[in-house]
Amino acid sequence: MNSSFSFIASVILSLTMSSSFSFIVSLTLRLIMSLSSRFFEYAADEAFLQFCNSCKGYKAPRSHHCRKCGRCVLKMDHHCPWINNCVGHANHAHFVAFLSCAVLGCAQAAVVMIISLYRTFNWHYYMRLGHTQLNMVHFTISTLALTVFAVGLSIGVVLSVGALLFFQLRVILKNRTGIEEWIVSKAESRRTEADPPFVYPYNLGRWKNFTQVINWEFEVTGDGINWPVREGCNQYTLTVEQKEQKLEKRIRTIPYVVEKEYNGSWCPFRLGFKVLCSPPLSDEPRIPLKPSETVNVTRWRKYWLFGEKLNEDPDADPSTRIRGWFPRCCVMELGLESQPDEETKKTQ
Ligand SMILES: [Zn+2]
Ligand SMILES: [Zn+2]
Repeated sequence: MNSSFSFIASVILSLTMSSSFSFIVSLTLRLIMSLSSRFFEYAADEAFLQFCNSCKGYKAPRSHHCRKCGRCVLKMDHHCPWINNCVGHANHAHFVAFLSCAVLGCAQAAVVMIISLYRTFNWHYYMRLGHTQLNMVHFTISTLALTVFAVGLSIGVVLSVGALLFFQLRVILKNRTGIEEWIVSKAESRRTEADPPFVYPYNLGRWKNFTQVINWEFEVTGDGINWPVREGCNQYTLTVEQKEQKLEKRIRTIPYVVEKEYNGSWCPFRLGFKVLCSPPLSDEPRIPLKPSETVNVTRWRKYWLFGEKLNEDPDADPSTRIRGWFPRCCVMELGLESQPDEETKKTQ
């Protein structure tokens, strides 16, 4: 009895030992695999993703940093001042629903008010024909004025918000945000005929693009980080293109030295009529300049330039970079600074 008991006990112990051993081995293997995959993931992120100096982290594909929100936004389309928030992956469907309701609501209001006004203006005509049972709205001078004003407002909303709704639906059907549209146009323009064409990775066909954002529950699909892509593309296709474009931009950068002070005003009256009348059509900031400062310019307009002030301090926090627009007449390309003219030289 004793020997049979010890036999059973030894079998149970060996089974337990072997299962524990295999459990430990599988756990260790899983840990090693997860660590190594994370290592390769991080290595890929470092190699192919852009770093956000403000958030101190790598930006997920399709995400961008919003200066107004102060954070990186997944699949950012634009910052909307009307909702005081960014439109992106998490609220794209809700934003489209909001626009649709605004358009439909204002269209319905416009129709009701126009019919009411029509009946009121033609009241005598209806009475003459014996339509005495018709529902009429009785206007006073003030309610009449307000109704006409409201009709104008509602038609204005239908047209302006309707246009925005149209552009948003186009974004959804192409699966290409406003920012991505800009990146793709640059990608196409910087390629020569010998280069293979740039394939935008997220366009899966109109229906799939549509259902990726809009569904009956208006629920967000996907995590906003990993996206289904077209054949031949990968998760990093767009970010690699962005990095190459930024590198090209850095090479094209030209330093300018400030010669005339500029206070950062959006309407610089003192700098001439042409500067005042041809501002850059962008809500990007205007940066104040002081003489002898250096600005690295990356974008050129006829009367305005876009650039970043050179920070002399090598330890300065990169998130405090000062970038924006300023009038072209306040700066001179480095090396071409205006020299004192001959007359001045002679008198000196
Ligand atoms: Zn950020
Ligand atoms: Zn924002």
